[in-house]
Amino acid sequence: MKNEERKVHLIGSGIDSPATLLAFNESAERADAPARGLSNDVFADPAESARSNAAQAIVLSNRPRLRKKSVTSLIPQTMKAAVVGKFREPLQVREVPVPSPGPGQVLVKIVATGVCHTDLHAADGDWPAKPAPPFIPGHEGAGVVVKLGAGVTHVKEGDRVGIAWLHSACGHCEFCYSGWETLCPAQQNSGYSVNGSFAEYTLAHGDFVGRIPQGLSFVEAAPILCAGVTTYKGLKETEARPGAWVVISGVGGLGHIAVQYAKAMGLHVAAVDVGKEKLELARKLGAEVIADAATEDPAKTIQQATGGAHGVLVTAVSPVAFKQAVGMLRRGGTCVLIGLPPGEFPVSIFDIVLKRYTIRGSIVGSRKDLDEALAFAAQGKVRATIEQLPLESINDVFARLREGKVNGRVVLNMAHG
Ligand code: NAD
Ligand code: ZN
Ligand code: ZN
Repeated sequence: MKNEERKVHLIGSGIDSPATLLAFNESAERADAPARGLSNDVFADPAESARSNAAQAIVLSNRPRLRKKSVTSLIPQTMKAAVVGKFREPLQVREVPVPSPGPGQVLVKIVATGVCHTDLHAADGDWPAKPAPPFIPGHEGAGVVVKLGAGVTHVKEGDRVGIAWLHSACGHCEFCYSGWETLCPAQQNSGYSVNGSFAEYTLAHGDFVGRIPQGLSFVEAAPILCAGVTTYKGLKETEARPGAWVVISGVGGLGHIAVQYAKAMGLHVAAVDVGKEKLELARKLGAEVIADAATEDPAKTIQQATGGAHGVLVTAVSPVAFKQAVGMLRRGGTCVLIGLPPGEFPVSIFDIVLKRYTIRGSIVGSRKDLDEALAFAAQGKVRATIEQLPLESINDVFARLREGKVNGRVVLNMAHG
């Protein structure tokens, strides 16, 4: 049986996505090695994988020179991955089949992957549109292309690539046409509607991988793939010009990078969080004004210190921060909502109308935004504060994220552990 596709539910559309989760191994010697610890239906059946592997091995035996040189000959049959089995339960770090790239897809060997708070929302299932367990989270995956699916021409084996939240988009809707692929209703999302990068290997769409610039390490690149591009794009969405004031509310993984993009864009920066350590980091990274929402009214502090912000970027994971953020605006200002805590917040209609406030959401960034965001990092203008840990520490990392105890970004280094 060749390349049979297993299905993951595509969030929001009711359609099944053809995410390939098939086990695959080009090594004839290991083709019959038992896949370990697999019990869940969404992952490939080991017996089926072995048949597929044997078929692939025969095909490859006709191309001995290619096989000798190709990195694909080193691809194992199974890999370590952190799997969400059930919402709100600890992830299981276990062996699952290495997937095989279908048409248009590439297999990426993950070297480093950042842990975004979105991965925690995904594992908790706390958004209205939920992923379908079992699944592998992760959407800040940096690594190397090791195998191409059919029809992939502009990415090659050995390329250094990044896997971001936007796994793919349809390419032919009004949003894709107009540079708003992040709004495509048929998009798929890494680590959510399709398996992500908390694994030694993962599938990406050849057209949607980011290119990691030379000089930027995998570990440094990882946080840029979501935290970086999201805040870079969000800052553009505030429409604040150089010399204007922006507030970064929430100085976590996203926020501490946002402070740096804002400085690099020539903006004055104020930062708000509920932790002393977070605010110290913000100050170190260039925030001129800080406010601790745990001990003071942050809107009042910002209004007094800046005369009102031209833009506010809310990356905080608490709904109360959203209400406070609107109160930080200058007349005519724009509040960009990025954080995604479940819930709602009240806004004064009177204030929005009379003070011409704009309140808008912003979701990650396009491939072009990602290129630009990575270029800032490659030039050294933006550098995430990174704590490197092994994949096995994922449950501890989630526990700390929940409590606001990660300063900067955790990057899981696949070489550790
Ligand atoms: P994080 O946990 O690293 O940071 C969140 C920060 O919010 C922490 O520093 C925390 O102390 C702070 N915070 C909590 N309550 C606060 C309050 N009342 N006022 C101010 N700060 C407060 O999380 P992260 O990885 O930076 O992600 C932040 C949020 O952004 C998550 O909800 C995530 O899902 C979302 N997100 C959205 C997008 C997007 O495209 N819109 C992309 C990535 C992440
Ligand atoms: Zn993210
Ligand atoms: Zn589309």
